Amino acid sequence: TPVLVWFRNDLRIHDHRALAAAARQGPVVGVFLHCPDQWRAHGHGANRLDFLRRGVAALADDLAGLNIPLLQRDIGDFAAAPEALGAIAESLGAGRLHFHHDYPLDEAGCDRAVTQALAARGVEVTGHHDGVAFAPGELLTGQGEPYKVFTPFSRAWHRHLDAERLALSPPPEVQAPLAIDGEPLPPCPAMDDPPVASSRWPAGSRAAEERLSRFLRYRGRHYKAQRDFPAVAGTSELSPYLALGMLSHRQCLQAVLTENDGRLTEGDAGLAAWVNELVWREFYRHIAAAFPAVCRHRAFQAHTEALAWRDDEAAFRAWCEGRTGYPIVDAAMRQLVTSGWMHNRLRMISAMFLSKHLLIDWRRGEAFFMRHLVDGDFCANNGGWQWAASTGTDAAPYFRIFNPTTQSKRFDPDGRFIADLVPELSKVDPKQRHDPPEAVRRAQGYPAPIVDHKAARQRALDAFAALKS
Ligand code: FAD
Repeated sequence: TPVLVWFRNDLRIHDHRALAAAARQGPVVGVFLHCPDQWRAHGHGANRLDFLRRGVAALADDLAGLNIPLLQRDIGDFAAAPEALGAIAESLGAGRLHFHHDYPLDEAGCDRAVTQALAARGVEVTGHHDGVAFAPGELLTGQGEPYKVFTPFSRAWHRHLDAERLALSPPPEVQAPLAIDGEPLPPCPAMDDPPVASSRWPAGSRAAEERLSRFLRYRGRHYKAQRDFPAVAGTSELSPYLALGMLSHRQCLQAVLTENDGRLTEGDAGLAAWVNELVWREFYRHIAAAFPAVCRHRAFQAHTEALAWRDDEAAFRAWCEGRTGYPIVDAAMRQLVTSGWMHNRLRMISAMFLSKHLLIDWRRGEAFFMRHLVDGDFCANNGGWQWAASTGTDAAPYFRIFNPTTQSKRFDPDGRFIADLVPELSKVDPKQRHDPPEAVRRAQGYPAPIVDHKAARQRALDAFAALKS
C-alpha cells in the first residue's frame, strides 16, 4: 500500500527526511494542500504565492522523475487539512503518512490536528523535524528554559551538533510506476498585485542548488566583508529557497563543510559568518515555538505593548512607497516592492526607521514586508521586526537608533545603490545622494525628509522611557 508524504514548506526531493523515510516503507504518493485563504490570512502576497506555485510545479516534475505522483488539493485553510489528508489516505488505502513539522502557532496546530485525525482513522503518522538541526525544546538553558538570547543559543547549537544531525538524506530511488496520476496545480487564486517577473526568482531545487554553489564558489569567502553593502551582491539571496524548502539548511551546511575543510565555526571567516546567519534562522524558529504569543501579534517583551505608537497614515504611506525623503530608506522600500526582496542591512534600516523615526507600530511594517517578500517567513520576519522595534528577544536596545544618513554613507559609500533604486537621485553628485540639499531635492522632484532625525530620535526615546515610568 502507498505511503503518503505531505509536502509543505519543503519543496524538494533531495535531503528530505520525510520522503526518505516514506520511501523505505513502500511506494510513495506525494500530497500538496493549497491553502490560499490561510495564506491570505497570514498576509502572504503575490510574490510568495507565485514563487510557491512555481516551486510546487517544479517539485511535481522532480517527483514524476521518480514515478511519484503528486496529488494537489485546494482546501482553503488549514482547518480542512485533517479531513483532506484522511480522505486521500482512505481512497488510496494508505496506512502511513510522513510530514515535516512547522513551528508557527497555526502551522503547529495543524500538525497536531492532522496527527490526531489520521491516527483516529488508523493511519500511522510520523512528523519529522527537518527544517532545524534541533527540534524546539531540545536545546535548553541550564535552568531548563528555552533560550531568549541568540549568542548562548548559538553556542549550545554548535556544542551539541553532531554528524547525524547534519547528514543528508538520499533522494529515493526511482519506484515502479503506480496506477495513480499526478494532479495539476489548482487555479491560481486572485492576487492583489501582479508578482515580480519569474526570471528574478527561478523556482525549484535546481535553481537553489546552483545559487548555493555559485555563492560558495565566488562570494562565500568575502561574505563577512561584503554582506553589509547593498550595492554589492555579497549575500547568497537564498532566503526564498530556504523559506520554501527548495533547499535545506543541511545542504547549505554540508557545502560549507566541503569548502571550509570540515569546519563550520573556524577556518574561513566569511563562511563562518554565513553559518551564523543560518543559526539565527533556527533561533527564531525556536522562539516562535516556545513563545507562541509572538504568533498572536504580541510583542516578545510584554511591557512594550504599552508603547504609544503613532497613528500617521500619511507617514506610513510615504514609507511604503519609498517617499520618506531619506534616500537609503526609500531605495530599500523600492527594492522590496520592485524585486520582492530586500538586503538585510536595509531591512534593519527601514524597519528601524518605521518603528523609531516614525514611531509607527512594527506590526504594520511586518505585515507590509510579508505582503511583498518572496522569502516571507513568519519566524524570521517577526524576529527581525521585533529586533528593530526593540520589542523582541535580542532586540536592539531602544536607545540605539540608526541614523539613516550615517548608515547610508557607511554602507552605500558612493551612493550606487541609491542611484539604482531612486532614479530621481541618479544624476546627483554621489556625495550628496545620502542627504541632498533642499534645492537639489526640489530640482530633482525628490521629497524633503518627512521627519527630522534628531527630533524623531528624541520622540522615540521619550516614548520608550515612558514605558518605564
Ligand atoms: P544570507 O546573508 O546569505 O544568509 C543566509 C540565510 O540565512 C538566509 O537566506 C536566511 O535564510 C538566513 N538568515 C540570514 N539572516 C537572518 C536573520 N537575521 N534571521 C533569520 N534568518 C536569517 N529572512 C527571511 O528569510 N524571511 C523574512 O521574512 C525575513 N524578514 C526580515 C525582516 C526584518 C525586519 C529583518 C531585519 C530581517 C528579516 N529576515 C528575513 C532576515 C534576513 O534579512 C534575510 O534572511 C536575508 O536578508 C536574506 O538574504 P540572503 O538569502 O542573501 O541572506
